[in-house]
Amino acid sequence: MQQLKVLYHPKYEEDYPTASVESPARVEVICKELKGGFEFVTPEAATEEDILLVHTSSLLKEVKGHPLLFEVASLAVGGAIKSAQLAWEGNPTFGLIRPPGHHASPGSHWGFCFFNNMAIAVEKLIREGKLERVLILDIDLHFGDGTHNFFQGRSDVVVANIQEEERNSFLQRVAEDLESALPYDLIALSAGFDRYCLDWGGTLEMDDYRVIGEMVAEKAVSSCQGRRFAILEGGYYLPDLGKNARSLVDGLASY
Ligand SMILES: [Zn+2]
Repeated sequence: MQQLKVLYHPKYEEDYPTASVESPARVEVICKELKGGFEFVTPEAATEEDILLVHTSSLLKEVKGHPLLFEVASLAVGGAIKSAQLAWEGNPTFGLIRPPGHHASPGSHWGFCFFNNMAIAVEKLIREGKLERVLILDIDLHFGDGTHNFFQGRSDVVVANIQEEERNSFLQRVAEDLESALPYDLIALSAGFDRYCLDWGGTLEMDDYRVIGEMVAEKAVSSCQGRRFAILEGGYYLPDLGKNARSLVDGLASY
């Protein structure tokens, strides 16, 4: 068993109302790849108070109108919060959570996202006084507008959306943002896998996810006491999604 822990809840495989492409099988295939290699930790649901750290009461009310969706989305936020807390304590973590969150802004949501898992997790640790400065790297194909909108104008959180279309410049940009955002006391990774060469983006090879995970791990160890975590965002090419996640997680677990 490696030191890295995986946050997972069986409810993430519920078929709540969403677009069919964002299917329970996404979590299932990743789960199969990671089981046995890492300790699995079961999170609790986030409280409404946690959700309201980022979202308006009207958005919360809207999601609550769909009880199953609300239950799973609250568990996803809880998984992100626990991932961040464990990372803060020095354990690298991967939040194998669903639904994704980076397209959820304070008062609106789209793109299969309902609550912004990443923004809530990071904001909670900052409000608790545990973190002063955080780097959020978003490697999903799609611009993480929700996370960007929430932290816009803040000096304590740098949100770096990597949008390079070409493979080498993408990896180069990850390295540059890890360096230019310094100093920070935690690195958080919004891990979408839809940049994969056989997925919608067509940019990255499977091994590139390991390289990205390693870059994050190496920088976290040298700059912020090893504090790093990743949570699942997009990624829709099911035949390789599990292996891509395994590749990233192996890299993130190194050092
Ligand atoms: Zn995406």
